[in-house]
Amino acid sequence: MQKENLIIIGSGPAGLTAAIYAARANLNPLLIAGNQMGGQIAITNEVENFPGFDTILGPELTEKMRVQAERFGTRFEFDEVLEVDFTKGAPFYLKTYGQEYQANAVIIATGASARRLGIPGEDDYIGRGVSYCATCDGFFFKDKDVLVIGGGDSALQEGIFLTKYASKVRIVHRRDSLRAGELLINRARANDKIEFVWDTVLQSIDGEKKVTGVTAQNVRTGQVEPWQTDGVFVFVGHFPNTQIFQGQLAMDEQNFLIVDKFMQTSVAGVYAAGEVMDPIYKQAISSAGQGCQAAISVERYLEMLHDSNLGGADERQ
Ligand code: NAP
Repeated sequence: MQKENLIIIGSGPAGLTAAIYAARANLNPLLIAGNQMGGQIAITNEVENFPGFDTILGPELTEKMRVQAERFGTRFEFDEVLEVDFTKGAPFYLKTYGQEYQANAVIIATGASARRLGIPGEDDYIGRGVSYCATCDGFFFKDKDVLVIGGGDSALQEGIFLTKYASKVRIVHRRDSLRAGELLINRARANDKIEFVWDTVLQSIDGEKKVTGVTAQNVRTGQVEPWQTDGVFVFVGHFPNTQIFQGQLAMDEQNFLIVDKFMQTSVAGVYAAGEVMDPIYKQAISSAGQGCQAAISVERYLEMLHDSNLGGADERQ
């Protein structure tokens, strides 16, 4: 059993910012990075709204945060937390593929994952025409026809990015008005390669060895028709990564962690930051801010724990 003062779970802007603050406060944090260093921002192409950077690539922003956290002494473990036990209070138990830990405090910054459409063919063609990441897979669609599903900022931003490669990008939305912001809407409308298809949902994704088409339905007329396409990029929102905390921490009806104004979850000593607890703002900068808040709260919590001599991982055997 490895004993730690503070474990941060997750390596997106929330986790990395928490690590920068915690390391600077000499809390000696261990950050367990998960299976995708940087989280969602690391697979975002251009970030234009992170203060201080006019435009920066998502992976570059992640790397800068990682280096900054490391410079102050954060240790990184490239592993995944599989199991936790928060029910007995501090020290908290965590288990990864490679190690078991005890920690005096925990910051959960596990973020959110792309939601799937849940239609026939979707799972079968992941990596063979179905994708949830334009930055990762756009290159494979040079001069091809692709569909983008969704009407939010992600669908438009990633759809615009895909026009660098694809010959045609159809943005297929289930309604006739977009959820995305004006700036992206105007940019997408001005792009000759983008076409909008309104009031339409997919019934299935079709193909043989790879995607060759979809079956689409107009939700107003009910008309169903097959379309040919080479790829389907799905951007229909996210769900919080809270599965391993089920039954141990309070969650809302959509499974986001519930925190108080100090970013503390329903268990004292366990904090949360970023999209795992934020169903509203979901921005890299708001996640970073929440990571900062969580780290400052942990610092105070650990001081209190120390002062009241309640014990911690180091004192207990
Ligand atoms: P989102 O805002 O939740 O949008 C999801 C879109 O998918 C909506 O248009 C929704 O339709 C549609 N949708 C949901 N379920 C569907 C289904 N089963 N079938 C078909 N369509 C479905 O998610 P997001 O675009 O990923 O954005 C998440 C957050 O990140 C937002 O706060 C956004 O502002 C932010 N973001 C910002 C930027 C930027 O500032 N540049 C870029 C990316 C993301 P309805 O509209 O009908 O609900």
